[in-house]
Amino acid sequence: MALNGGDNQSITKREGYLEWEEYFMAASFLSAMRSKDPVTQVGACIVNKENVVVGLGYNGMPKGCSDDELPWTKHSVDKLDNKYLYVVHAEVNAITNRNTALLDGCRMYVGLFPCNECAKVIIQAGIREVIFMSDKHCAKPETIAAKRMFQMAGVAYRQFTPKQKKIVIDFDLVDWNNASQVPPTPRK
Ligand code: ZN
Repeated sequence: MALNGGDNQSITKREGYLEWEEYFMAASFLSAMRSKDPVTQVGACIVNKENVVVGLGYNGMPKGCSDDELPWTKHSVDKLDNKYLYVVHAEVNAITNRNTALLDGCRMYVGLFPCNECAKVIIQAGIREVIFMSDKHCAKPETIAAKRMFQMAGVAYRQFTPKQKKIVIDFDLVDWNNASQVPPTPRK
């Protein structure tokens, strides 16, 4: 009897699978889809040395603080009516959401280069590398300060260019009676 159970299953590994870097960056972008911010949606994904996801987050209001009552605008004259004093950034949420005690040696995948406040927390948490997509605020003092601190603290950072340009999850394409994402059951 053939080792694979006698049918014609392929015994070589599948090609075209999602690579680690795409997987983690996609996880951060999927998290960003949870954001209620009408202007900026950011997600962050923390990964340990064993390539295990240990934290996910997106920008949002603190726990218990209603995202219907607190403001989302950034154009109000009164600072108290702007979002900035309230929103928790994705990076901080990913860190506080972590499912492990320590984040030493971890890396963070994030859609947008971290601001100075997040950079402080990233450094203090022991995260050693930041992989980002956009650096659109590179001229802002917050970003310049963040990079300054990362360099001093020895936190590496690099921009990520995905090899795979598009990752689509289309539930309409799932054939529930022949779900190919489920591994075939071994036959006895
Ligand atoms: Zn931030």
